[in-house]
Amino acid sequence: MSTTPTDTDRQQSFAETALRLGGKSEEEARRMGAVDRADEQVEHMFAPQYQTVNSPVHKAAWEKRVPIELFMPPPLPASAPCDGAMDRSFEVVRRHREAGTLFDEHKKISTTVLGDLAQAGYWGMLIDPKYGGQGAPFQRFTRFLTRVAVQDATCAGLASVHGCIGAVDPVRTFGSPEQKARFLPRLASGEALSGFALTEPGAGSDLTAMRTRAVLVGDHYEVTGEKLFITNAVPGRSVGLVVKIDEKPAVLVVELPREENEQFQMVNYGLYALKHTWNRGLKFNRLPVPKENLLVPRQGDGLTIAYHGLNLGRLSLCATAAGSMRAMLANLLPWAHFRRTYGAPIETRELVKRRVARMAGLIVACDALTAWGSYLIDQGYRGELECIVAKIFGSEAQKEAAIELFMKTHGGRSFLHGHTFGDNVHELLAPCIYEGEGEVLGLAFFKSLLKEHGKQFFEPIGKAFQAAGIAKPNLANPRHAWVVKRELWAYTRWLVGQKFGGRQVDSVPGIDPRLAGHLSFAQDQFGSFGREISAAMAKHQLKLADRQCRMAELSSRVQDTITLLVTALHAHQKRDEVTTAAADIVCQDLRRKLTGERPSDAYFRDLSKLADTIVGGGFEAIAGAPVAEILMKYPQ
Ligand SMILES: Cc1cc2nc3c(=O)[nH]c(=O)nc-3n(C[C@H](O)[C@H](O)[C@H](O)COP(=O)(O)OP(=O)(O)OC[C@H]3O[C@@H](n4cnc5c(N)ncnc54)[C@H](O)[C@@H]3O)c2cc1C
Repeated sequence: MSTTPTDTDRQQSFAETALRLGGKSEEEARRMGAVDRADEQVEHMFAPQYQTVNSPVHKAAWEKRVPIELFMPPPLPASAPCDGAMDRSFEVVRRHREAGTLFDEHKKISTTVLGDLAQAGYWGMLIDPKYGGQGAPFQRFTRFLTRVAVQDATCAGLASVHGCIGAVDPVRTFGSPEQKARFLPRLASGEALSGFALTEPGAGSDLTAMRTRAVLVGDHYEVTGEKLFITNAVPGRSVGLVVKIDEKPAVLVVELPREENEQFQMVNYGLYALKHTWNRGLKFNRLPVPKENLLVPRQGDGLTIAYHGLNLGRLSLCATAAGSMRAMLANLLPWAHFRRTYGAPIETRELVKRRVARMAGLIVACDALTAWGSYLIDQGYRGELECIVAKIFGSEAQKEAAIELFMKTHGGRSFLHGHTFGDNVHELLAPCIYEGEGEVLGLAFFKSLLKEHGKQFFEPIGKAFQAAGIAKPNLANPRHAWVVKRELWAYTRWLVGQKFGGRQVDSVPGIDPRLAGHLSFAQDQFGSFGREISAAMAKHQLKLADRQCRMAELSSRVQDTITLLVTALHAHQKRDEVTTAAADIVCQDLRRKLTGERPSDAYFRDLSKLADTIVGGGFEAIAGAPVAEILMKYPQ
């Protein structure tokens, strides 16, 4: 019996349709559909030109020209009104770090430091001045976080927890005028510090498994459930709490009681990562929360709010990684100078030089991704794809820098108590997990990248088969092919256009020849991504969702190409030799990763030359970074 698509069919998301047709359980299809719809609702919050389908990454992959101008943010204005508060805040962190007074008796950032930062205006950086904040543009904020992270990564992390994923972004973006007036002044002054409570014991990567619920009882909600791994979870502080209300995700701004009681308890555990701040579980048993604290987005639901803040948090994470790596490089150099083996300092050895140059390259790439993504946010873009690239690259770069470059160069001393690596190893690795584990995020990136193409060409084919009652389509069967002839023709036209329609390749006037090579390489790579992704969709069809390794492989290649492009253009704009040489190294590394080529001798010479310059004090980016005493020093 032939059927026509019903309204319900039309309301199903692409993922939902695919999963249902692919034989997934009703439950999985329903849950993935919910995530997908939340995602689409976030998309609709943005004007069409700023949505994911019109983002630089989407355009580069699917259109016939890489919009280079969208990958190259203009330089920041020399000054802005928020600069004073940033300088004062930086001084607070620097002063307490130098005096050894950052932490209290629990080794957490002390309330004195939090208070001094509040005085300096730190907690209101992203809040409009009319509510007492500094109104910092996001690009300025992330550049500032890098500066702070060189001094202390936890302080930088807390600014992001409070401002991006905590209560600030949800209230300033989704709050009603009354909610903004009620919450923002206290969030700006630091009277109310905040965190973000989404993860639960049974719901981390899979947010659809969330169980915490809020029920309206009279003039308040009663919250019942449990949250886990919540950073900045301290009695009396606030959290953006993600709950389910009538089975739909929602966000309540919750002021945690000052003391534990029957309705609210903390779950304490030993956590190695983020050890200088409180990270706890939260248990709620009918905790009353005023009903006026519910944030009601114009579009979407609680996940819409959560995703919005997470985007900003992901860029902040990359900015913080750029700061932590500066601190690592600044500490690696004196040691490499001091340590002699076989009669010469290890800084003269090619293996060590490679690490120095690679670390500089990673720093420049993180700076580039942070500046680019933050600029797009300031322009009004959703930034979904761009923030994921920055998050994954930043966290992986920091992991590599810590283990492959920093730890190995410091040898056995890396593991001494008091050593920057040994003392901070968990801090340096955890960003790979929080705000979305990297590989799972890479799949999300890929899914968002192909969604529109799927909707345009594959969904109509699936729906035509469904309407014709064909459960197992086979295009070799003439009857099946006939059913989708119109849809196939549209797809063939697209494919032929991609293959033979020609692509515009742009150059940038005055660009250094090394960077120009990377620019053309990136544009060349983008020339085939659309077809490759489409081929994977055509080959695996509705089973693509299960081909995670293929999706991860394609996703990672697109991400690497973006990083390469953004880094080359960033260096071009900086126009200084060390940044260009460092960008060139990381771009060469990415190109070899993409092509599988072996490194040339010229590449090794480039590494050595750059490292010699950095060893000689030529890398401005690490100037002023604090340097710890060399441990177990010995007479030479
Ligand atoms: C230091 C720290 C601070 C944190 N701070 C906060 C906070 O402030 N607020 C908050 O809400 N949360 C916070 N978290 C929680 C963090 O966001 C989660 O740990 C993270 O999202 C991963 O969730 P999970 O630990 O439950 O991993 P799981 O969901 O158990 O996943 C484990 C792994 O399984 C694999 N996996 C899972 N699903 C799939 C799939 N569908 N396909 C393929 N592989 C899969 C992935 O490799 C994944 O990483 C924090 C965590 C840490 C460590």
